[in-house]
Amino acid sequence: MMLGLLLARAGVGVTVLEKHGDFLRDFRGDTVHASTLTLLDELGLGERFAALPHRHMSKMSLTYTGTVATLADFSLLKGPHKHIAMVPQWDLLDLLADEAGTEPTFELRMNTEVTELITAGEKVLGVRFKTADGETGELRAPLTVSCEGRHSRLRRGAVRDYPVPMDVWWFRLPRLTDDIDGGVMSFTTGHAIVAFDRGDYFQAAYMIPKGSDAELRARGLPWFRETVKELFPWTRDQLDTITSWDDVKFLNAKLDLLKTWYADGLLCIGDAAHAMSPAGGVGINLAIQDAVAAAAILAGPLRRGTVSTGDLARVQRRRTYPTVATQAVQRLMHRVAINHALTGAIGDKPPAPVRLISRTPLLRRLPGEIVGLGFRPEHIPAFARRKPDQLSR
Ligand SMILES: Cc1cc2nc3c(=O)[nH]c(=O)nc-3n(C[C@H](O)[C@H](O)[C@H](O)COP(=O)(O)OP(=O)(O)OC[C@H]3O[C@@H](n4cnc5c(N)ncnc54)[C@H](O)[C@@H]3O)c2cc1C
Repeated sequence: MMLGLLLARAGVGVTVLEKHGDFLRDFRGDTVHASTLTLLDELGLGERFAALPHRHMSKMSLTYTGTVATLADFSLLKGPHKHIAMVPQWDLLDLLADEAGTEPTFELRMNTEVTELITAGEKVLGVRFKTADGETGELRAPLTVSCEGRHSRLRRGAVRDYPVPMDVWWFRLPRLTDDIDGGVMSFTTGHAIVAFDRGDYFQAAYMIPKGSDAELRARGLPWFRETVKELFPWTRDQLDTITSWDDVKFLNAKLDLLKTWYADGLLCIGDAAHAMSPAGGVGINLAIQDAVAAAAILAGPLRRGTVSTGDLARVQRRRTYPTVATQAVQRLMHRVAINHALTGAIGDKPPAPVRLISRTPLLRRLPGEIVGLGFRPEHIPAFARRKPDQLSR
């Protein structure tokens, strides 16, 4: 959606195909980081975004076998945004879709699922699709961008899979007004959990060893409620609201990297190029950064009708360092924190780097910057920048 908006602002004809009828999906990642908030300002959408219902998260703390440590302090970030905004992802997508819809060259087709690529030899000519009411069709284009997430069927070629120690159970906990606020994590022998303050509820993620969903569900809900109570002693009777396993959603975590993100006529970005783990809640923001880089590099060649594999390679080159560096941080978090907790190899005290960061405000800036701003943040290219008073709605 971000790439569609940017290319349409450059006057490039764009059609976005989305298989669902709306963007309403619970427990999509909803973390909009400072880097993305700055991009929204540059698009002229900062005020409209700020009017969406959202929560600010200005720090992330960790309870590690009973010791509380502040892990990231976003209030120390440079720039105008010193927090992470927790916003339902459908609100953000609706905002971008609404704004893109004001551009004459933009079209969004909902309920339209891409089924396969149209190819001639190695060249990609477009896609075949089917709609929710069973119609099928073809759409041909000089460039097809695969941004259909981590289960991408359009991506091609070798993929490097990284081991991920956990899957995730997502659930809601009502938030009482005097509960803690911000983001909280709790790690102890055999368990790891994180919860984000969403106003009247917490969005909580309990991490389970990879592949153990069925085995752990068989232990029963009372076991689960008790486990969460031990990890979050501040909860009161909120856990009674979990009355069925349907309240606890299973999400399969993965982390991978496509070796080559492009082919003649095709480019993969976002999770289609590099599926992100939930660790650090960075995946949406990284996907948006890919879109901004792709628009900056490709708008000119697309307008001139000369887009080449060399241009597509430039997008991959531009985004490789931030992607590889972010995935390296996620792999470190998997290895040092989550895996140790889940296998019971957790020490009595937080690891030395966590203790150091927690005690030293200046060092707390670093994890805040890695998560909140990311590596080499992109900026909206001049052709797509607008002041709020230049927007037609
Ligand atoms: C458990 C879990 C929790 C996470 N939590 C966070 C978090 O808190 N914050 C964060 O930043 N990241 C989080 N992530 C990562 C994040 O979800 C992804 O990195 C991010 O959504 C990738 O964006 P994307 O646009 O590439 O793909 P997606 O967000 O997956 O979007 C793909 C879109 O393509 C559509 N689509 C799919 N197939 C087709 C098709 N064939 N035809 C047409 N449309 C199609 C889908 O309906 C969807 O709308 C989490 C990941 C997991 C697994």
